[in-house]
Amino acid sequence: MRIAIASGKGGTGKTLISTNLFYVLKETGNDVTLADCDAEEPNSAAFFNCIKLSAKEVVQKTPVIDQNLCTYCGKCEEYCSYNAIFLVKERKLIKVMEDLCHGCGACSYACTYGAITEKENSLGEVIRFNHPSDLDTGRDSLIVEGRMRIGAYTPVPIIKAAVREAGTGVRESGTGNKGVINEAFVILDSPPGTSCPFIHTVSSADFVLLVTEPTPFGVSDLKISVSILRKLNKPFAVIVNRAGLGSRDVYDYLSKENIRLAMEIPFDREIAGIYSEGGIVAAKKDDLRKKFEKLAYSITEQKFNN
Ligand code: SF4
Ligand code: SF4
Repeated sequence: MRIAIASGKGGTGKTLISTNLFYVLKETGNDVTLADCDAEEPNSAAFFNCIKLSAKEVVQKTPVIDQNLCTYCGKCEEYCSYNAIFLVKERKLIKVMEDLCHGCGACSYACTYGAITEKENSLGEVIRFNHPSDLDTGRDSLIVEGRMRIGAYTPVPIIKAAVREAGTGVRESGTGNKGVINEAFVILDSPPGTSCPFIHTVSSADFVLLVTEPTPFGVSDLKISVSILRKLNKPFAVIVNRAGLGSRDVYDYLSKENIRLAMEIPFDREIAGIYSEGGIVAAKKDDLRKKFEKLAYSITEQKFNN
């Protein structure tokens, strides 16, 4: 089961939720993989003592135009939906703007003069970490991190590669040793926002947990995220982080829209302190651990379907 942890807004606590859910699922003896899809700023692996296993480069094919063969017919420019080919026919000037190129290959297909070949450009990498087990199950877990190269135009190919890589670490079913949960999981820590990176992450999930906070910005971004998930027909529930801060608007909205509240995390200095030092709050606070166990149980029992 793939669970995406997402939010329409940065800084709401997505990584707090994904790292703690990963920790609790693992502690209860489950097969679980954590994939950090926030490729512009991945940091999930930093919360655990893990060992780097490998790094795989993510490349994209980009066209190269041979000006000796080019007739400046303009067909490649017509085929490019991303305005990545700059052409001035009268001056016999043609150029690929690599920052805009999506590597779709349409221009190569369009050119019948053999003037276009392709080269590989690095967009970033997908790193695999082993998180060793300290339990009697002896089951290690995989943490996958998508990391975008500075200057790359989009994290989407890296997110897709990270989701694929995380899937390779999942067995069909797990055998929980404490009888709480018996499932194989992939937790996808989504990039913030509601644009392409968010959509590509949640599209591959079976279930989405939207994290918000009870502030006007939190509610506004939650509404956008909800409308997208409904269009994608994805089951989801909402987690309110920093509960107690701000107003009741978020709860009124959830109730009006008949959306399940999956969990609340209180606005609490101790929680913020543990998290900011790279700690796992469910490992240090019993009440939080119970909340996360209940959350995991509700997901596996599909109590949030809407
Ligand atoms: S389609 Fe080929 S020949 Fe025509 S402008 Fe593009 S690169 Fe040149
Ligand atoms: S590969 Fe696609 S996006 Fe890139 S220049 Fe060619 S047509 Fe445009």
